[in-house]
Amino acid sequence: MATLTAKQTKQAADFFLKEIDRMIDRPVRFMEVCGTHTVAIFRAGIRQLLPEKVELVSGPGCPVCVTPNDYLDTAIAYARQKDVIIATFGDMLKVPGTTSSLNAVKAEGADIRVVYSPLDSLQIAKDNPTKKVIFLAVGFETTSPTAAATIFTAKQQNIKNFYVLTAHKLTPPAIKALLSEHNVKVDGFLLPGHVCVITGRKPFEFIAQDYHLPAVVAGFEPLDILASVYMLAKQLYEHRAQIENQYKRVVKDEGNIQAQKIMQMVYKLSDANWRGLGKIENSGLDVNEAFADFDALKVLPVEKEISKDAPGCRCGEVLRGLVKPTQCPLFGKVCTPMHAVGSCMVSVEGTCAAWYKYGART
Ligand code: SF4
Repeated sequence: MATLTAKQTKQAADFFLKEIDRMIDRPVRFMEVCGTHTVAIFRAGIRQLLPEKVELVSGPGCPVCVTPNDYLDTAIAYARQKDVIIATFGDMLKVPGTTSSLNAVKAEGADIRVVYSPLDSLQIAKDNPTKKVIFLAVGFETTSPTAAATIFTAKQQNIKNFYVLTAHKLTPPAIKALLSEHNVKVDGFLLPGHVCVITGRKPFEFIAQDYHLPAVVAGFEPLDILASVYMLAKQLYEHRAQIENQYKRVVKDEGNIQAQKIMQMVYKLSDANWRGLGKIENSGLDVNEAFADFDALKVLPVEKEISKDAPGCRCGEVLRGLVKPTQCPLFGKVCTPMHAVGSCMVSVEGTCAAWYKYGART
């Protein structure tokens, strides 16, 4: 969005809010698919600004939240092996597995290092040639190209002690599963701007074509979000269902071709397990045969415990937009960011964490 003065911003926001109110004549639910949107919506108080008839619900857009216990338990089992170093983004440390967490095994002596980029883990592998370094490759389309580039670099540089434990997930199949298998009722989607930078608009076209719902690729400033809700409202008002792009300053229709190429070179589509959504066909990325030497699950044996979800945690329903975090009896009592019971309370992008941080109670 072009730089606006404070006065222009307020005028634009007032315009969008007035028009949304005028065009919407019934209760509607719009789902924001991205955790960064969830946080931005809370931070700017957008839920309170919108007319009551417009409800924003969060979807499965926080990568840490949708990563199931099965994956965490595997990572924990690897971390307990004496010759392994786990390299991970910081968010994963606090996520509870079935009976432990990476933080807990780190306290017991496991070598777990926080990295800010997958490439950092490659350096750790070079610095520790007698250890096996496993990078926890968790994330959506935004992070998978960098992880793919790291695997590609490891092959080029002939690094033999670097591996990935993949849990990469793709956003469009999750939205499709929500609408088909889980029968989630929404009136439109705010699409994840960061994901669309990589994918472009095309993979989301089924939302309009098959489900006749509007969707808007949205930016992350408060005015971007209001403008995107306005665009959804306008489509409903005009009885249109299209995939529109509010975030044109960043998202190109075709996405990032280079990033798509490196992903295709290193990964293959796979069925993936999502917390709350179960197994979704072709919704994940696994390392393909040409790079199989870097696939931890293929080359490093591991035995993990039988995975179970935390009793009482309603994270799965929160991720499908079926319940609000406050409808979970554990919210704010047993489950807080300091003592998270479920993954939705851990990441800053987690819906339960956002509701807790910004004091939302309804
Ligand atoms: Fe799970 Fe905690 Fe959210 Fe309840 S508040 S759904 S226990 S993460």
